[in-house]
Amino acid sequence: MERMERIIIHTEGLTKCYGEKTAVSELNLDIVQGEIFGLLGPNGAGKTTTILMLLGLTEPTAGTAGINGMDCTREPIGIKSMVGYLPDQMGFYPDMTGRENLRFTGRLNGLSGPLLEERINSLLERVGMSEAADKKTGTYSRGMKQRLGIADVLVKDPKVVIMDEPTLGIDPEGMRELMDLIRRLSTEDGRTILISSHQLYQVQQICDRVGLFVDGKLIACGKIDELARQVQQEDNYVLETAAIPDDGGFEAVLKSLGNVRQVEHQGEFYVVRSSCDVRRELLRKSLDQGYTLSHLRQRGGDLDEIYRRYFEKADGEAGENRGKGKITAFRNRKND
Ligand code: ATP
Repeated sequence: MERMERIIIHTEGLTKCYGEKTAVSELNLDIVQGEIFGLLGPNGAGKTTTILMLLGLTEPTAGTAGINGMDCTREPIGIKSMVGYLPDQMGFYPDMTGRENLRFTGRLNGLSGPLLEERINSLLERVGMSEAADKKTGTYSRGMKQRLGIADVLVKDPKVVIMDEPTLGIDPEGMRELMDLIRRLSTEDGRTILISSHQLYQVQQICDRVGLFVDGKLIACGKIDELARQVQQEDNYVLETAAIPDDGGFEAVLKSLGNVRQVEHQGEFYVVRSSCDVRRELLRKSLDQGYTLSHLRQRGGDLDEIYRRYFEKADGEAGENRGKGKITAFRNRKND
């Protein structure tokens, strides 16, 4: 189905400084209604500060942020009624049941009576929490709290849902359900979802577009496959390959390919850098020379790799080494 391209979140020159520190620097971002947008970056990149400005909870130093035509700073009540926020730690009352917690949120949002009860029932069902609804939330696992958190956010039927690190600490089984649930908020309800995360792998499975944040700056923004193509054009092609038999002749085949700049042996693979896609030629020549490829992968297609390349580029342009530690931290936290 063709999606209506209506910009719902718009920021222009959005900047936030804390004293000398620029947490967010001149952010220009447009997010379309119904899309799932991933705001990605390592700790301290400026994701939370951006979210706080969108929610009208902190004032920008310069620039503007708007949601559905409302100014996030000047119209906080309108923003609050339209935007649901799921923080990374959902604060439920542990002695109250899931249902009671949702009822509490509903009342805070001016809902009551049968309308509220019906909405609670349908939301509990939607997030797969009907059975546990009458147990105290203090007994819930993190995954259950996260699902109840989504129900909680949906009580007021928001147009936009902002989620801070929603996948943290969720086991693989719970992750699939959570991803599916988030995706359906966009595809079935047409809600706009903004996800802040440093967990690239999980996020790349559901986001329509991503923005890569480093040191308060948006260094790249787009569809994951577009970013991958840009990286490949700018940094050329990098291929991993291995063959049977694994002898010197295979390296000679690799070096004979047109447009190859470098062939390097790295662990079990050869890494081939070239200025165009050499996969077809490699397949043909390997076959001709009696080699069977046991491994062939074009690097640059997944978000982790895209992020690393962009990060290295931004770091290189800054002309210093400051980013190395950060990308390591970012990647190490990938599976936490
Ligand atoms: P995390 O995932 O760790 O929350 P983040 O990408 O959300 O990281 P922010 O929390 O937005 O990053 O922080 C951006 C920068 O601004 C960091 O250097 C942080 O130390 C700084 N910062 C954030 N809030 C404040 C504050 N209230 N006072 C001073 N500095 C702050």
